[in-house]
Amino acid sequence: MSEDYDVVIAGAGPAGAQCARDLASRGYDVVVLETEPEEQFPRTSNKSTAGTFPSMMTAFGIPDDVVMNYTDSVVLESPNDHFVQEQAGAVLEFADFKWFLVDDGREHGAEYRFDARVTAPIMENGEIVGVEYNGSEEVYGKIVVDATGPSAPLAKALGVSDLKRENHAIGIEYELEGVDVSHPGFADLTDAMMLRLDHNLAPGGYSWIFHTGEDTAKVGLCYIQNDIHERNAREGFTIDDYLEFWMETDPRLHGAERIEGIQHRGSAHIQPPGSLSTDNFVAIGDTVPTIDPLWGEGIHKGMKSARAAASTVDACLDNGVADTSAEQMALYDKLWHRDVAPRMDSRLLMTHLLYLAPNERYDTLMADLRRLDENTLAKANRGNKAAIARLLHLGDLPLLAELAQTRHAPGLGDVLKRGVDETANAVPTPSWFR
Ligand SMILES: Cc1cc2nc3c(=O)[nH]c(=O)nc-3n(C[C@H](O)[C@H](O)[C@H](O)COP(=O)(O)OP(=O)(O)OC[C@H]3O[C@@H](n4cnc5c(N)ncnc54)[C@H](O)[C@@H]3O)c2cc1C
Repeated sequence: MSEDYDVVIAGAGPAGAQCARDLASRGYDVVVLETEPEEQFPRTSNKSTAGTFPSMMTAFGIPDDVVMNYTDSVVLESPNDHFVQEQAGAVLEFADFKWFLVDDGREHGAEYRFDARVTAPIMENGEIVGVEYNGSEEVYGKIVVDATGPSAPLAKALGVSDLKRENHAIGIEYELEGVDVSHPGFADLTDAMMLRLDHNLAPGGYSWIFHTGEDTAKVGLCYIQNDIHERNAREGFTIDDYLEFWMETDPRLHGAERIEGIQHRGSAHIQPPGSLSTDNFVAIGDTVPTIDPLWGEGIHKGMKSARAAASTVDACLDNGVADTSAEQMALYDKLWHRDVAPRMDSRLLMTHLLYLAPNERYDTLMADLRRLDENTLAKANRGNKAAIARLLHLGDLPLLAELAQTRHAPGLGDVLKRGVDETANAVPTPSWFR
């Protein structure tokens, strides 16, 4: 086995495996180090609901046979109301999807080493030149990519990633059968991805039901472990308790049973990214973190970050004259902010505002969503501040003020101020005064 590569990638998640696919198909020598044994992969890293949209499937050539169910709509639920948006989607079988990325990368020439736990960077003259794995093994690369998700052993050691405990979000999900997806009094969840805002079930976060066909569904919840969660939390409840509680109290889940042996859990950080690269190094996917803060869409975002990293490698190693200095690698940062997660600050603001809001405000939000036209909603979802302001009410000013005082939105004071100003100015009709 060679111990010198163009690129060493740590982690075979959607981000790392996609990066390997892109680089191998361009002719680079790539090795991926994955901590799990091949015969069990992905046992502990089979963590995702894996809801995604056709844009991802097309952009990355993902085949139909990793899809569990194609969906037609996205449903947002509050405690007493809901909003339906017609929107095509796909719920992937996450393990099959991960294996497709690995197999396709291998066909293009990427090398995989399983059972290879990356522990530390190998440094020369203050720069990373390779990685240590399994304690004593070493492998070298012109460029090293950390795609290990939140564990981020390389990015942390290099000071690229500063993942903060108060921004740590955790998620859990069961696959269930016997789910009543068209229960009277609720939105029809047949072929739908449903996201529910309800502090009783997911304090400071949200819960979901993703239909996977017939009477089966992926059912889960996540929340950020911060003081908004604490404020709404039930004494002594763990995240597992919340999911059990939902199953006991929601009539759609009364007859449901867990499909044996299937459980997904994981974590991500909801925070601004900080730096993304340094000499000979980039961090991609949840390592940075890239996940969309609002609705947890991490697969497509992670794969886009992988593609931005592959383009950066290409720019730095092409022409036979390698320049992998921090200045050159910073191309990745530019691509990330432009193409992968534009307007991250606005989306973080929306996220914190949403989770800070009380349950009653969620019911009003559903009415607001129905009232606004699709174009405005699409703009708000992209982080357009004027469109976001149209979802706000004068009664939200105390919430905005509280958010401005908290540490949940570091560096967002400016955005908040604009949000408050726009809110105050965006009161076009009396219907805004509730
Ligand atoms: C419960 C849950 C539900 C979710 N639902 C959705 C959803 O519906 N849609 C969506 O888009 N996103 C969803 N996400 C988010 C999505 O799963 C992640 O954003 C995505 O998997 C991130 O990909 P990644 O490649 O960056 O990291 P990961 O998927 O975390 O992959 C990291 C890989 O690195 C390996 N690894 C870790 N440490 C080491 C090490 N030291 N050495 C070597 N290898 C290592 C791991 O085994 C793993 O294979 C969900 C997440 C959770 C937890």
